[in-house]
Amino acid sequence: MALPDYAEFCRRADAARARIAAACTRVGRDPAGVELLAVTKTHPAAAAEYAARHGLRAVGENRVQEAATKRAACPVVIAWELIGHLQSNKARLAAETFDRVQSVDSVKLLRHLDRAAADLGKILPVLLQINAGRDPAKFGAEPADAAALLETALGLPSLRVDGLMTIAPLSDDPDTARRTFENLRAIRDDLAARFGAPLRELSMGMSGDMDAAIAAGSTMVRVGTALFGARSA
Ligand SMILES: *Cc1c(COP(=O)(O)O)cnc(C)c1O
Repeated sequence: MALPDYAEFCRRADAARARIAAACTRVGRDPAGVELLAVTKTHPAAAAEYAARHGLRAVGENRVQEAATKRAACPVVIAWELIGHLQSNKARLAAETFDRVQSVDSVKLLRHLDRAAADLGKILPVLLQINAGRDPAKFGAEPADAAALLETALGLPSLRVDGLMTIAPLSDDPDTARRTFENLRAIRDDLAARFGAPLRELSMGMSGDMDAAIAAGSTMVRVGTALFGARSA
């Protein structure tokens, strides 16, 4: 699918921000506490240029190689975040390509990313992806393994843990998403208290379920289709 023109993108981004603001108002939150992450996967590098021109901080991509190619072709400064599943054998390219990896779900992957970041002489920010909706079709660490994952992560010198990420199961029941997000929030509050780590970031909510995510404390909603249109791949 072709990208919309820049003016149309701006209208859509403004509409998304208005929706975030309305969801915040309903629950007494400050809209400044919820970031709009523009998901540019499958779209050309121009999508990231739009996001930067509009003043967004970051874009989200779900494939390492695709993002590496796109970032190399993208002349603007914007942060790149990995939101898709990452295999350990791609940890090095991921550490090179991304400013933050949101999809860290195993001790093995943590160790690979830490080593890669150390070799690059950088501190790599990460989020731990938790399967808070217990969806058999989704990646993410099981909630019961979250504490062990965080303990390992906090001991790795070249990683910085900013918070948690989840994807709600696909469901016709809106309560499923709400429960998933409330569960992630509860896991975060528990881990933050036990480990004395702020874990400020809660990346949860997409186009279809952002209102429930914001009510549960989301600090970042990940939106692709509503900004750039349908994906062909
Ligand atoms: C693709 C994707 C999104 C954005 O989905 P849309 O339906 O296009 O808004 C959000 N989060 C993750 C993890 C994704 O892979």
